[in-house]
Parts: sequence; C-alpha cells; structure tokens
Amino acid sequence: MTNHLFDAFRAGMPAPERLLMETDDGRSISYGDMLAQSAQLAHALLQLGVEPGDRVAVQVEKSAEAILLYLACLRAGTVFLPLNTAYTLTELDYFFGDAEPRLVVCDPARAADIGALAERSGAIAVTLGGNGEGSLMDQASRRSSDFCDVVRGPDDLAAILYTSGTTGRSKGAMLSHENLASNARVLVDQWRFTAADVLIHALPIFHTHGLFVATNVILMAGASMLFETRFDPARIVSLLPRATALMGVPTLYVRLLQQDGLNRQAAKNIRLFVSGSAPLLAETHKAWRERTGHSIIERYGMTETNMNTSNPYDGERRAGTVGFPLPGVALRIADPDSGETLAQGEVGMIEVKGPNVFGGYWRMPEKTKAEFRDDGFFITGDLGLIDADGYVHIVGRGKDLIISGGYNIYPKEVESEIDALPGVAESAVIGVAHPDFGEGVTAIVVRTPASTITAAEIVGAIAGRLAKFKHPKQVIFVDELPRNTMGKVQKNLLRETYKDLYA
Ligand code: ATP
Ligand code: MG
Repeated sequence: MTNHLFDAFRAGMPAPERLLMETDDGRSISYGDMLAQSAQLAHALLQLGVEPGDRVAVQVEKSAEAILLYLACLRAGTVFLPLNTAYTLTELDYFFGDAEPRLVVCDPARAADIGALAERSGAIAVTLGGNGEGSLMDQASRRSSDFCDVVRGPDDLAAILYTSGTTGRSKGAMLSHENLASNARVLVDQWRFTAADVLIHALPIFHTHGLFVATNVILMAGASMLFETRFDPARIVSLLPRATALMGVPTLYVRLLQQDGLNRQAAKNIRLFVSGSAPLLAETHKAWRERTGHSIIERYGMTETNMNTSNPYDGERRAGTVGFPLPGVALRIADPDSGETLAQGEVGMIEVKGPNVFGGYWRMPEKTKAEFRDDGFFITGDLGLIDADGYVHIVGRGKDLIISGGYNIYPKEVESEIDALPGVAESAVIGVAHPDFGEGVTAIVVRTPASTITAAEIVGAIAGRLAKFKHPKQVIFVDELPRNTMGKVQKNLLRETYKDLYA
C-alpha cells in the first residue's frame, strides 16, 4: 500500500520523539505526535463523509493543527485546498463554486457566514481556530491514532492551490503527489537540508512558499521548525540563534534589516537564508550580507510549478538573479508569440518543464491548453533571460511589459536604475494609457526617509544611462507601494489608480 507523498515523508522521518514543530505559544509537536494526530484527523475526515479525491477547502488562521490537517488530507487521499485568510465571503463564494469542496474548514468566528455559504454549495462546514479550538479537533480527538493511509499514486491530486491573483482572477493549480514530492526532494538536496536543521517558519501556509517549499522540505528532511503564527520581526531576530535556516519573502528581509539586533552574532548558527515569491532588490541582498555575513539564496517559483530555479548553495549567489534551473527542470527562453527558443542573452518568455510542473488549471481546460506549448513546456508568464554564466534573470511579468511608441520596455530595467539613486527606497514602473505613445512609462517612487529627491532629478539621473524612450513621462511619489501578503507589488492596482494620468 503506498501513498506517494506521505510515504516520501515517512521515508525521511526521524525517531518519533524528534521535534517537528515548536509553536509560538510554547507547544512541542514531535514526529510521533504528528503521525498520531494526523491519523485522528484523517479518521475525522472520513467520518465527515469526505472521500478520496474530494476537495477539502481550508480557510483558517495559521496553526500547527492546520499543518496536521494538510497531512491528514494527504493520508486520507483527499485534495487539500487552502485559501488566503483575507478572502471575503464574496471571494469564498467564487472559490466554493469553482472547487466544489465536500468539506469546508473555517475559523470559528466566521462559522455562521461561511457555514451558510458552504451549505449552499453542497459542502459540510467544520471549524478550526488559531489555537486548535473548534469542532474539527473535537471530532478528531475521539478517533484512533492509527490510520491506514489511502493509496495514492504519483499522478493523483494532492492539492489545488489558487494563484495569488496578482495579474487577474486566481486560478486553481492542480498539483499531484509527484509534483510536490519531486520538488521537495530536489530542494532538500540543493539546499542541503538534514534532520539537524531548524527552520524559522514565518510565512503564511495558504501559499506555495510557506506550505510546500518550507513545510514539505522540513518533512522530507526529517528536520524541525520554529513555527511562528505571526510575523514579528523582533521575535524572529531573537529566534535566529536557535535556528539554522530562514525562508522569507523580500519584505520580510527588509523588515528584519530594520531591527537593531540583526547582526553577525545573531545569525551565527544560521547556514541558509532563502528568499522568493517576489524580486529581492540587489540592495537588500547586499545590505543583508554586510549585516549578517550571509548571502541570501534567491530562488524562483510559482504556484503552478513549485520551484524552478535557485541560486547555488556552493558558488556565487548572484544578486538580482534567480540562479540556475533546478535538477530535473528544463527551462528555456522563448519568443512569446512564436514559442521559438531565443539565443542566450535575449529577453523572452520563461518556459519550464519537469516533474514539478502542475497538470493544469482546475476546470479551465481552455486556459490550460493556452498556457502549454505542444512539447509540454509551461508558459510561465514571466519574462527573463539567461546570462552568459547560465544565471536566470527575471525582467518582469509579461503582463507588466510596457509598449511605448512601439518600443518594448522592461519595467525592471528602469526600476533598477531608479532604485540605485540615493534618496530612493524603491519604485514600480508601469505603463499607463497615453494618447501619443500608446502607453506612457510611469514611475511610482517611494523616497527614503528625509529624502527630497524630485521627479526632474530622477529623470535627469537616469538620462545618461537609459535610452530616451525608457524615461518615465511622469514620476509619482507615494509613501508605500501596494503589496499583497506575499510581498508582491500589485501593479494592477497602480495601473488602475493612475489610468487617467495622460488622458
Ligand atoms: P496570478 O498568477 O494569479 O496573477 P501570481 O503569479 O503572483 O498571481 P504566485 O504563483 O503566488 O501568483 O506567484 C508566482 C509569481 O511570483 C511568478 O510568476 C513570478 O512573477 C513571481 N516570483 C516568484 N519568485 C520570484 C523571484 N525570486 N523574483 C521575481 N519574481 C518572482
Ligand atoms: Mg501567476
């Protein structure tokens, strides 16, 4: 009897008394506890009428129990479907209608509203709170702590994970047991995780980064995590001496850099800092190295593909790049229209193929067909290039490409120039409808504290460095860029805000 992904975790499992998670309220959950409690939860799922292949939609606060529920779903052969805690009832209505879950697990505080919504879409609702309270754990506590895992093969669905919705409506990516197992295995190997590692887990668990990259890697390696339910920068710094690894989004690193206690001494036991989900500014990379003595490993992935590339563990971790394709992942740069592979150094569409790449979008056969080439490569939607040394550079999303006066402008090129100016904290460059140029290059800029840099100074400073058609037609100063929970700049919101700028 085999359950493809959970068996892979079992294979790496240390002695039952070894620590899996230490929670921020001081609880320790060993591997043995995990096996027992995920078994109880798996029984509870079956008891509630959930059958293999059924979707279990989960919108709950981050908790150790939520991770145990994920594992229970795997063991019971069901499809885990986590949802961002920020989603409103209207949004949940779309997700429930789309995914048709058999079971909905929600926060006790929202039980009445979400319960009614779940019922309307034919699902049963149970509750799970941030401290493990609610009807789900009540039911589970009465069940046996032995469970015979449901048989699941490599191609069976393990999860449906909705994309972040940065460029449009979120799409449900169908991820198989092998998609997840193969990627976790490769990352353990590339990043040298062993049972001796202790990871500070401070990411949301409804997203691929916190759920699959962080959690699956730890489980696959038989390692431990300090499981933080909230992102508290001062606390993270205080935990560093007890940990060997940290994974975060770029904003996490920026926020940690603002902590006085962050220094070499605090980071002396850490062997690995990983960043992803959004571009890490070269400046942040540099500041981190100066403060801690460590180079952050930047990697690149997405909901649909898990991780595709990583900077090397040994060898140069090149700031502003996402490193090399992971073993088993084929990556090419193609002409967005024809799909033809471009020459080294040219900018084009990043396309990937490998055991990590999802099977398609849930109930969107047309969309799925449109995003795959005939030879099986997935069209990521990200534009990039491969440099002479093989490092992959992301220059931005295809949807953010600016076409002004017939010229293509890659926002990142302009942003990098602006970001490098003294007095600039960060920028986002977008295209805004323009009567003469089609789109006008527009820079939204955040100044550093006390900076008085002006629009004219910014344009003047980059004039000698970038061709005229790349210069911003307008520079707008803001206090901060709009970001989602994963630290991604929401350029669609910026485009909406400034859509009439040149009208
Ligand atoms: P949607 O597909 O719904 O518009 P999304 O693409 O933001 O949302 P995710 O799957 O969470 O949803 O994010 C994947 C994207 O994040 C990638 O396609 C890429 O644009 C970006 N990304 C991830 N890692 C990096 C990185 N290291 N540098 C730059 N961009 C990154
Ligand atoms: Mg996407």
